Amino acid sequence: MSEKYDVIVIGAGPAGYVAAIRAGQHGLKTACIDKWKNYDGSTAFGGTCLNAGCIPSKALLESSELYHRAREEFSVHGISTGEVSMDIGAMQKRKAGIVKQLTGGITALFKANKVDGLQGSGEFLGDGKVRYVSHDGEEKMLEAEHVVLATGSEPIELKSIPFDEVNVVDSWRALEFDAVPPRLGVIGGGVIGLELGSVWKRLGSEVTVLEAMDDFLFMADRQIAKDALRQFKRQGLDIKLGAKVTAAEVGDSGVALSYEDKTGTQQLQVDKVVVAVGRRPYTEGLLGAGAGIELDERGFIKVDEECRTGVDGVWAVGDAVRGPMLAHKGSEEGVMVADLIAGEVAEVNYAVIPSIIYTAPEVAWVGKTEEQAKESGLPYKVGTFSFAANGRAKGMEQAVGMVKIIASADDDLIIGAHILGPMAGELIGEIVLGMEFSASAEDLQRTIHAHPTLSEAVHEAALAVDNRAIHAINK
Ligand code: FAD
Ligand code: NAD
Repeated sequence: MSEKYDVIVIGAGPAGYVAAIRAGQHGLKTACIDKWKNYDGSTAFGGTCLNAGCIPSKALLESSELYHRAREEFSVHGISTGEVSMDIGAMQKRKAGIVKQLTGGITALFKANKVDGLQGSGEFLGDGKVRYVSHDGEEKMLEAEHVVLATGSEPIELKSIPFDEVNVVDSWRALEFDAVPPRLGVIGGGVIGLELGSVWKRLGSEVTVLEAMDDFLFMADRQIAKDALRQFKRQGLDIKLGAKVTAAEVGDSGVALSYEDKTGTQQLQVDKVVVAVGRRPYTEGLLGAGAGIELDERGFIKVDEECRTGVDGVWAVGDAVRGPMLAHKGSEEGVMVADLIAGEVAEVNYAVIPSIIYTAPEVAWVGKTEEQAKESGLPYKVGTFSFAANGRAKGMEQAVGMVKIIASADDDLIIGAHILGPMAGELIGEIVLGMEFSASAEDLQRTIHAHPTLSEAVHEAALAVDNRAIHAINK
């Protein structure tokens, strides 16, 4: 006999656990199965995001940034500290504590919403049936009218440079280093490369980032990417563009990396290498022979705009399906699917998903880049405002970067926004909300922004769209 549910979710990352909680809120009998195991053998809900991604990386970014400021910036404020030192063990303990609190919080939320949190693996067999095998090997058959697949993603391994878990590692291992590697090589100058490169650089590593493409942050607005590259290089991150890594040799003195650039074959000797060349969807062991679920050529579970797989009652969300691999994108898909299962009207606005890189300064954007606006062929207007003219940023000693807002020239609707600067990840929220409500540049212009705040730079950029900035000379 199989145990019956209304909804079974496989995977408890930010896509799956959110879907399960929302289904529970709808009064649906819900189970959420997750097989995550930490290096120490402990189990936890929360998936990549809470255990090995967003949360631990942001904890280390904060610790390392404070250390960097104490050493390099306090004196500008007149503060002298004597020698500042860093206890990596204490930093890692703080990070582990935050992860533990938040993953424990999911267990509590499952209980509060009457979701059965099951630790172990789930395999969808077709016809609403799911085989659940606990970590102890106990097997149970479950059945539900709706099954939500939310199994996430895993790091891409380079064939020529396989992970060895010690010298050549993925992002998870790179969050767990117990000592600062004197020389760190980072393969991939994307989001993970820049965030983790920043962490270890601030703590004292000599960091070299090898990025295969000639363009830096190809997905970002060019003007912002160019400025960001300048800032990161100034901080001492050695970012080499157009550098294709071809081999790695692990020896007594670390790892010898070979890479090709415009001038030929180059060598780089480092102590450790982080491979951060992207992630791929993870569906290993998920689909039984009768599942009938289709994968695309890159291994993503095929879904429509509403995350339906095409098999009746089977949905898929998060990193395992098309779209940006972002926690908030997965969570919103989880909410949408649970609402649709409950018979409500729901959708995800894929055109308005914010992206943030948590470096210092942060990089944040939403909607179209200027290049995409140009390509669309429709007339557009651009307003920019530099943090150098923002009082709050000056006071924070972080007056770098700018806000850039792009609006349609026809109807003034905001179609994109790009920020490089302090707290860019928080500032972008205002524009995301504006775009969700179809705000025009004039709407932002006529909204009162408190003084002195960083958000005044957003206000001024909106004014600059129509050459009305007050604290800058207009075009
Ligand atoms: P996951 O979080 O990967 O969760 C999937 C879960 O399913 C896992 O627990 C897995 O064990 C489980 N599972 C898989 N197969 C089965 C099975 N058959 N049975 C049972 N369980 C199974 N995104 C952001 O938005 N902001 C950030 O700041 C950010 N920082 C990141 C930093 C790093 C270093 C990394 C690696 C990623 C970061 N991301 C960030 C990306 C973010 O972590 C992912 O987009 C997000 O976790 C995807 O959520 P998900 O629920 O789809 O998958
Ligand atoms: P990414 O796609 O952001 O960057 C990978 C980079 O590696 C690209 O610039 C690519 O050109 C480069 N690359 C690929 N092959 C290479 C090679 N052989 N040699 C050198 N460079 C190579 O991927 P990521 O940084 O690994 O991150 C994975 C996912 O996790 C991303 O989709 C991202 O959205 C998500 N993530 C998000 C955040 C955040 O939201 N702040 C943080 C970390 C990760």
